[in-house]
Amino acid sequence: MIVVMNNSASSGEINRVKEHIKHLGYKPHNVRIQISPSQTDHKISQQIIGEHIEDLPGVVNILEDSPQEKLASRNHRRENTLVRVGEVVFGDGNAVMIAGPCAVESRDQVLETANRVRENGAQVLRGGAFKPRTSPYSFQGLGERGLEFLAEAREITGLPVVTEAVDQESARLVAQYADMIQIGARNMQNFSLLEAVGKLGKPVLLKRGMSATLKETLLSAEYIMSNGCPDVVVCERGIRTFSRHSRNTLDLGFIPAFKSESHLPIIVDPSHASGRHDSILPLSYAAIGAGADGIMVDVHSHPEHAKVDGFQAILPGEFAEMMANLRALAKVLHRNIGSI
Ligand code: PEP
Ligand code: MN
Repeated sequence: MIVVMNNSASSGEINRVKEHIKHLGYKPHNVRIQISPSQTDHKISQQIIGEHIEDLPGVVNILEDSPQEKLASRNHRRENTLVRVGEVVFGDGNAVMIAGPCAVESRDQVLETANRVRENGAQVLRGGAFKPRTSPYSFQGLGERGLEFLAEAREITGLPVVTEAVDQESARLVAQYADMIQIGARNMQNFSLLEAVGKLGKPVLLKRGMSATLKETLLSAEYIMSNGCPDVVVCERGIRTFSRHSRNTLDLGFIPAFKSESHLPIIVDPSHASGRHDSILPLSYAAIGAGADGIMVDVHSHPEHAKVDGFQAILPGEFAEMMANLRALAKVLHRNIGSI
């Protein structure tokens, strides 16, 4: 439900309405949207909440909410949202490159990979310190020690860090060390985690759930945004299909559809989408062709010894080749692949 306030309503009047909404057990959010005169002419007052509020000073009307009027929606904000992570900008038309190991395994591994990907133009370092594993017996990540290694890699390379939080406790730690908090596919609908992460004051990388629709993805972004964080980047990372040749199926059509529905930036993770290193380069080219605002890719110097997802990691040399080809491709599309 939207309570339309008069343009000249005072902050006192606005606060009074907000208090009233809270008193009724709802959560008020400030939004600035365009309301046509015909919408304000048409009074909707049958709702109980409306009967309480419509007589307060400064209130023009009460409109029924609709899915088109949510914070993550293009209807709420026409222009693309720019999300800043350190000096890096997502959503300005250029593509941001995020690279690094799937999991932080050791100090040496992270520092070496960070240096190699930086040399080749990566702008953000990835690496999981908390790993959401399908099996409880698999490597679960180094936890806070992994975050310390990532922070050291940032010191040395200057690359901002994105890393995953798997629960509220790890989210608080991640917010202390990282520049951007990643929410993994398995947690896309962990609503209490989304609410908590929205309050931590850091940009969020929200990965699409493996069976999530566009609307469900937007509503998960909405959980984060409505808790105070406007800086959400969504990541398409493949969906579960009947395919046996790849881990997931990269849903390229999601990118233009998402862009028409939302003002938020969207990037692509070809590593988790395909699960195989021989598909990463072609899928990244396709993603940039489809308009993605960036790529997040697993890079490992010794994938045969990787503790997690080695088969889908590319070598630093392959990352260099990928960057060269992406730069050429982006040029044709009048875009840039960002570099330091
Ligand atoms: C990851 O990026 O490390 C990861 C676990 O990906 P996803 O949540 O997409 O499976
Ligand atoms: Mn992985």
